[in-house]
Amino acid sequence: MVRYVYDFAEGGRGMAGLLGGKGANLAEMTRMGLPVPPGFIVSTEACRAFLATGAEPEGMSREISAHLSAVEAAAGRRLGHPDDPLLVSVRSGARPSMPGMMETVLDIGLDDASVLGLAEASGNERFAWDSYRRLVQMFGSTVMGVEASLFEEAMAVLKEARDAPDDMHLDARDLAELVEMFKKLIYDATGHDFPQSPAEQLRRAVLAVFRSWNGERARLYRRREHIPDDLGTAVTVQRMVFGNLGPDSGSGVAFTRDPVTGRPGLYGDYLPDAQGEDVVAGVRNTVALTELRRLDPHSYDQLRQYAQALESHYRDLCDIEFTVERGRLWMLQTRVGKRTAEASFTIAAELADEGVLTPDEALTRVSGDELARLMFPRFDTSATGPVLARGVPASPGAAVGAVVFDSATAVRRAATGEKVVLVRHETTPDDLPGMVAAQAVLTSHGGRTSHAAVVARGMGKVCVCGAGELRVHAGTRSFTTLDGIVVEEGTVISVDGTAGAVYPGAAPLVDSAVTRYLETGERSGDLTEAVAGALQQADAVRRLEVRANADTPEDAARARRFGAQGIGLCRTEHMFLGERRKLVEEMILARTDHQRRRALAALLPLQRRDFIGILAAMDGLPVTIRLLDPPLHEFLPDRTGLAVRIATAEARGGLPDPHDVELLEAVSRMHEENPMLGLRGVRLGLVVPGLVAMQVRAVAEAVVERTRAGGTPLAEIMVPLIGCVEELRLERDEVERVLAEVSAETGVPVRCPVGTMIELPRAALTAGRIAEQADFFSFGTNDLTQTTWGFSRDDVEAEFFSAYLDKGIFPASPFERLDREGVGRLVELATAEGRAAHPGLKTGVCGEHGGDPDSLHFFHATGLDYVSCSPFRVPVARLEAGRAALRPPADRVTGAERP
Ligand code: PEP
Ligand code: MG
Repeated sequence: MVRYVYDFAEGGRGMAGLLGGKGANLAEMTRMGLPVPPGFIVSTEACRAFLATGAEPEGMSREISAHLSAVEAAAGRRLGHPDDPLLVSVRSGARPSMPGMMETVLDIGLDDASVLGLAEASGNERFAWDSYRRLVQMFGSTVMGVEASLFEEAMAVLKEARDAPDDMHLDARDLAELVEMFKKLIYDATGHDFPQSPAEQLRRAVLAVFRSWNGERARLYRRREHIPDDLGTAVTVQRMVFGNLGPDSGSGVAFTRDPVTGRPGLYGDYLPDAQGEDVVAGVRNTVALTELRRLDPHSYDQLRQYAQALESHYRDLCDIEFTVERGRLWMLQTRVGKRTAEASFTIAAELADEGVLTPDEALTRVSGDELARLMFPRFDTSATGPVLARGVPASPGAAVGAVVFDSATAVRRAATGEKVVLVRHETTPDDLPGMVAAQAVLTSHGGRTSHAAVVARGMGKVCVCGAGELRVHAGTRSFTTLDGIVVEEGTVISVDGTAGAVYPGAAPLVDSAVTRYLETGERSGDLTEAVAGALQQADAVRRLEVRANADTPEDAARARRFGAQGIGLCRTEHMFLGERRKLVEEMILARTDHQRRRALAALLPLQRRDFIGILAAMDGLPVTIRLLDPPLHEFLPDRTGLAVRIATAEARGGLPDPHDVELLEAVSRMHEENPMLGLRGVRLGLVVPGLVAMQVRAVAEAVVERTRAGGTPLAEIMVPLIGCVEELRLERDEVERVLAEVSAETGVPVRCPVGTMIELPRAALTAGRIAEQADFFSFGTNDLTQTTWGFSRDDVEAEFFSAYLDKGIFPASPFERLDREGVGRLVELATAEGRAAHPGLKTGVCGEHGGDPDSLHFFHATGLDYVSCSPFRVPVARLEAGRAALRPPADRVTGAERP
């Protein structure tokens, strides 16, 4: 018999898969002896069963009743009893934290009779009616599906009529009137009454929370955070405690350290006489937690003690939701808290310094994505205009964009490539699509723990919230600053999420301190120290080498400063552009050997100079130079342009330029429908005489020159886009011939390993044979993805990937994150068969995936020797390679899963 319900006392933090993060942590706090209101958890297994069949799992209801009886017995009260009712909350909680993305129903147990009992028992009539009002509203929208805005509008109308600036100014009679209005709204919208049976309320609320797992915003959030769709949510049912019982009550959110900077010390927001949802929703502005010390020193001291206990127990920053009910502190939630990238690094370093974490553990607490975020530029505040507004620096970074006032506009304008800043009074979970689309989020309401702040931090999105001086008029699509400046929709502003400032126009940007440190070694504070420590540890433990994709001496030098151990891909085609394109054009269009040789001879010294510069910048480290790869048409003039030129000349009655006519004829002859799969890569080398010889000679002569200059040039030659061993053999013969020729001519022996890219399925499938001719394999996962899926890499992402992502066909673009199952399988197979045929065969990756953390963990697990990525990704790859070495792949914890 499957069991679906667990008492808090039965669970623990290790059970998050079954009980959800919230449930597991409530159980853990219960076991630690902290004051947690009693309750129980309906498991994720029950949710999965319900979502799979659409029917309530067999026996779940019975189990809920039994556990409810235990809570009732402990409280000495019955759910919804007319005299002194017990009320419960019903909250969602999946294994990963998904703040605000699913549903919650509070105050279950109130009906027309028990509301009077609650008023009597609490001695607070307003409180009782306010609780009932909240229940009817939440139940109506969440469980019965009534449009939430209908309730809000009704409430706004009543507030206006009573001249009440906020809901605190509505009295018990007003609230009772609202309850009646809400009940009528529900009946009118659904044809059903608000249920007066507490047991039915509970049952339906649990199922509604289950259903909210598949709600639109939850699905969008999961896609964005790469959270699997099949986890399901648990449901926590817990005795309600009340922060809205008067001035000696309140609710708050606390962090054991500052989640923005990482600085130690209890930190957070408090809202007197309020329930927790008011704090998170940002409907009223909170006060700093230090205010609680003044209002209720005893509760504050207890909270500090519990916070310390939690931090030492979890060995990490924890966030806490708590309520003070008439001077008594209750712990309602804890979890390992979300934090900014800066805080992640500084907290890991501090905990390591304090001896709480080993250096290896500290490394697992930071991620490459976080490091990448810290490498973003910031605003040059010495050159910004006067501040438009100030607010809470809720999520750091600098962003520039046009102001928009609603989520749909943000999505629409961003889809055209425009950068936008979403400006709201406060955000709700429905704003999520707009937040994803925007560069930054700016709100006039709410604190660091508001929905906007929590979600933005989770996404690494710039956010300033609680900019109280701003008046946001969503209706007229403008906001007004304290100085009376009116900013209309479409106006460009700059948002500094690190300083909490907003500037007019596009403010100038400067490099980040972390990037400066990586470039120059200059350490300028705790953050750079922490980054340095993490990278040092990663370098000490990683097995994967990290190289860079670089094709200029400048990029090579930068990559080296960033810690690259060589160049894994030098794309020589980038050296054939600009003025040199003419020479390539001549070479391709040459009618005679003589013409072709002349063009190649003109290219040779230019190529040699490039290689000398790159080999000098990477002296002593391997430099993999790839022979020319791109489709030919990239070097030829545009066909349409030529045709137009000729037609125009003819229309004017003249004769067209004969060179144009000749070019058009050649270009038309070479035209390819899909050039990415045409005369490219090794095919080009085998078809255009003298091309490979010229490139290899340039490499060899550069090696000779560097050797004579006292350097240690370690050039490697790589053949692109081969499909079979014969192609490689022919190309290799040519390479060896030229190397021998240059060695003989110069008296300097030039030995370059010759390897190949594996970027076609046929190459992967015949890797054993290919390896006989190759000194190394480098997986070109861009082309391997294109050809394995049959996706044109230049077209499909814009065309239909968003539909594929929406339908959940893949969780992320396979061009961004390696498709382990398909493309990855080819990488595994080719590596194994290549090595079997050629022991010691060196293997690496030089497609974009080399710098993607998730893919990199796969390459580590596959046993590749190196990854190669763009210079700016090199530090990220070093860090992730270290993390990969510490964690078995199945146990990998992503940012999304960490809490
Ligand atoms: C690849 O295909 O992965 C690769 C690195 O080559 P390119 O992107 O230049 O085709
Ligand atoms: Mg390629």
